[in-house]
Amino acid sequence: MIIKNLAGIGMTSQRTRTRLVNRLRDKGIEDEKVLSVMEQTPRHIFIDEALSHRAYEDTSLPIGMGQTISQPYIVARMTELLVSSGAMNDVLEIGTGCGYQTSILAGVSRRVYTIERILALQNQAVSRFKALNLHSITHRHGDGFLGWSEQSPFDAIIVTAAPDQIPQPLIDQLAVGGRMVIPVTNPGGDQQLHLLEKTTEGIVSMAVENVRFVPLLGGTIS
Ligand code: SAH
Repeated sequence: MIIKNLAGIGMTSQRTRTRLVNRLRDKGIEDEKVLSVMEQTPRHIFIDEALSHRAYEDTSLPIGMGQTISQPYIVARMTELLVSSGAMNDVLEIGTGCGYQTSILAGVSRRVYTIERILALQNQAVSRFKALNLHSITHRHGDGFLGWSEQSPFDAIIVTAAPDQIPQPLIDQLAVGGRMVIPVTNPGGDQQLHLLEKTTEGIVSMAVENVRFVPLLGGTIS
C-alpha cells in the first residue's frame, strides 16, 4: 500500500513539495542540505490517507494514538540547528512517531538511532523506512527518558516530545562537542525549544523559540 502510494502520488506531489520548501526558505531556513532532503522526502506517506491531501501544508497533523507529525518548519529548524553546529555521525532521536523527522535525519547523518514508546506507531514507521530504502536507521521500542546508553555517545540528540526538564541520561549520552535540541515545558505550561552543547567546560544552553509539542511520557505501550 505504502509502495503504491510512493509511486502514485509521489511523482505528482513534487511540485507541492518544492512549494513547501520555498515557504521554509521564506520562514528563514537556510541549510541547503536540509532543504534538499525535505524537497525529496514524500511527507504524504507518513500520514493517514484521509489527511494526505494536507501533507505539504506547513502544519502539524494527527497520526493516531493522540500523537502528531511535527510541522515541517519545526522539523527543518531542529534539523538545521544540529547540522549547522557540528558532526552528524551518530544521531539519537527520541519520539519516532510516524518516522518523518527520522527520515529527514537519515538524509543528513551517517546513522540514526530512534526510540518510540508506542509500538503500533513504531511498526508503521519501520515499514515506511523500508519502503523508502532507508538503511541507516536503527529503531527501538522503549522509554526515551533513558536514552540508549549502549549506542552512546551521540554527536546529536533530537527530542520530539516535551519533558518538564531535560532528562539527565540524555545529557550524559552526548559526546563532547555533541548537541541536543529539545522542547521543554516550563511551569507556566509554555514550551521553549532549547539547543544545548556539551563542551569540555560543561553544558552551554540557549532558548531558540517558542514551540508546541506533545508531552514526553514515561513507560511504553505495546
Ligand atoms: N518525530 C515525530 C514526532 C512525533 S510526536 C514525527 O515526525 O512524526 C512525538 C512522539 O514521541 C510520539 O510518537 C510519542 O509516542 C513519542 N514519545 C513520547 N514520550 C516518549 C518517550 N518517553 N520515549 C519515546 N517516545 C516517546
